Amino acid sequence: MSAPILPGATLGVLGGGQLGRMFAIAARRMGYRVHTFSPEDDTPTGQVSDREVRAAYDDLDAVRGFARDVDVVTFEFENVPAATAEAAAEQAPVRPAGAVLHTTQNRLREKGFLAAAGFPVTPFVPVRSEAELLAGLAALGVPAVLKTAGWGYDGKGQVRIAGAAEAPAAWAALATGEAVLEAYVDFAAEVSVVAARGLDGSFAHFGLIENQHRRHILDVSVAPAPLAAAAPGLAREAVELARGVLDALAVVGVLCVEMFVTTAGRLLINELAPRPHNSGHLTFDACVTSQFEQQLRAICGLPLGATDLLLPAAMANLLGDLWHDGEPDWEAACGFPTVKLHLYGKAQPRPGRKMGHLTALAADAGTAMGIAGPGSLDIR
Ligand code: AMP
Repeated sequence: MSAPILPGATLGVLGGGQLGRMFAIAARRMGYRVHTFSPEDDTPTGQVSDREVRAAYDDLDAVRGFARDVDVVTFEFENVPAATAEAAAEQAPVRPAGAVLHTTQNRLREKGFLAAAGFPVTPFVPVRSEAELLAGLAALGVPAVLKTAGWGYDGKGQVRIAGAAEAPAAWAALATGEAVLEAYVDFAAEVSVVAARGLDGSFAHFGLIENQHRRHILDVSVAPAPLAAAAPGLAREAVELARGVLDALAVVGVLCVEMFVTTAGRLLINELAPRPHNSGHLTFDACVTSQFEQQLRAICGLPLGATDLLLPAAMANLLGDLWHDGEPDWEAACGFPTVKLHLYGKAQPRPGRKMGHLTALAADAGTAMGIAGPGSLDIR
């Protein structure tokens, strides 16, 4: 196995968002240098990096030049074209490998991989025309959810269909050539397992995290998941599913497995994210090793860190909507001594845009939710 990449080395991040920002903060704390590459300037990642390269992802010469100057390349944004990952890999190790991105950046490829490998997924059919959509609705029943195969996140590119009469409008609204139709899951809860796989195949996970979404965007995450205490077998099963997925993809790095818990108590994998994930943000303040440091350890070939939860925690996303009457009341937020405030340095607060998050720490998950959960912290 290759020698570990040690502090003092330079880590390259493709993508400029908040995931890269928190990765860069973890990396710089440990004495690494960070270069970031994205099509924009003054990005959340760029603001805390040693060097910000601005170029298009399909400018392969720029990608090669960027990768030549770093010791390892990773991603904070999974929709990087396959050719970009390949160009970077000519110059430096790319972790996780481009093949992992290729599988997970398209919902059909991802679901096809999961189903073929025997993992439980939401019933689905590929849809490439209105006729296939109608056939899919007949096969799966309604309600159902139609999602674009590529470029979907945070509920973008998704339409819920209540009946066959809605099919033509739904197909037109999605404006795509390739989609996946999923049965609507009557879920009891949404959970995730954020896990890491090291260069040596070692595995570490942060346990079961319970998530609540609002308008298809993650709103609040809590750990330990209340469900884990109520159903420890289910929590173990979720972790084993995650281990299986990371092994099957031979991931080097952090990967999040998002799952539904059905009302019948079954786990169904909804989505994979081959990188640190929003539901793992609470690990930054609440765990011995955060998901960001874990990503660094994995891609640098270092031993994975301990994932123990130091204190139960609840994380609430701060979306641009919160800025409707100007800047939120940060002084009020800081008035809670066990609340940690994270802002991503984004200048334009747009509705639905992730601007930052808060993590509340407490003696138990219920109290943490009471502080950060829906309708709690009043900082408007
Ligand atoms: P996704 O972009 O696939 O992660 O979807 C975002 C959110 O939409 C999920 O976290 C769920 O809350 C909801 N959702 C997506 N797909 C389904 C489904 N098949 N059944 C029920 N809810 C869904």
